[in-house]
Amino acid sequence: MNYRHVYHAGNFADCMKHALLTTLLRALSRKNTLFSVLDTHAGIGLYDLSSPQAEATGEWREGIGRLLDLPSDTPDLEPLKDWLALVRQVMKEYAGKMVYPGSPEIVLRALRPGDSLVCCELHPEDQRALRRLFHNNPAVSVHHRDAYEAVTALLPPKTAKRGLVLIDPPFEERSEFTDLVKAVTTARQRFPTGIVAVWYPIKHRSPPRAFFHALQDAGHRNLLNLELSIRPPLDPGLLNGCGLLIANPPFKFDEEGAAILSTLCKYLGDGNTESLVEWIVPE
Ligand code: SAM
Repeated sequence: MNYRHVYHAGNFADCMKHALLTTLLRALSRKNTLFSVLDTHAGIGLYDLSSPQAEATGEWREGIGRLLDLPSDTPDLEPLKDWLALVRQVMKEYAGKMVYPGSPEIVLRALRPGDSLVCCELHPEDQRALRRLFHNNPAVSVHHRDAYEAVTALLPPKTAKRGLVLIDPPFEERSEFTDLVKAVTTARQRFPTGIVAVWYPIKHRSPPRAFFHALQDAGHRNLLNLELSIRPPLDPGLLNGCGLLIANPPFKFDEEGAAILSTLCKYLGDGNTESLVEWIVPE
């Protein structure tokens, strides 16, 4: 396990994932009934962007760094408003330090009394860091456990009939897209009403398209795909873009997601940024 998210925290891909995640959580909060979130690849929850690791790549400067440089009342930032307010709030709580919230911290802040968060993290040090962050919080449980095993073992949620499964792998394994097809299928069989969101990298076009075809062949319906590309996917050695594939998206999430991606297009990348929102399979 070589991947450490601190090198990439706050980059354009995190901005896309976390802005969309915030909006998914807002949709879940609209109904009164309890919800539960399973974050299968949780990371460490909070990332110090002034750390040597984050500074070694400087990726965050082209992501959250650009957005935080804009005045917070910039009118067209409206679709990112809730997520950026959360990021600024976390930094304020840490005395203005460049501390960036990852997916479990974003979820935590959306929980209402009775809602719950279940995190899995396989890296020994990272799962310890996550446990330290959430110790004594009864709404959160942290498992030192393989994500794909967790999808079988921890679904459906014990405490709620609604919820979200966020699957955000590091794509270190060649089998990751194949594993994802199995994981999405298992998650939906065990938790049919749940939203399942899968982050994936776009290095070149064909692997994500093969992933969608495999999901279609497995009989999946109600699949929405959102992509942000900062350059044409010509060099497969680079992270040219990323996507979030969502099964059972909330009502009108295609419209909300499109507004988020258009805003990110305007401020991230070098003028060639493009977004895409498409139904892979309608409801
Ligand atoms: N979701 C996090 C966020 O948005 O803040 C970032 C997660 S990072 C992309 C992927 C994480 O998955 C890493 O922390 C890595 O250690 C962990 N990981 C890798 N393989 C795993 C597995 N099989 N099961 C659970 N966690 C795994």
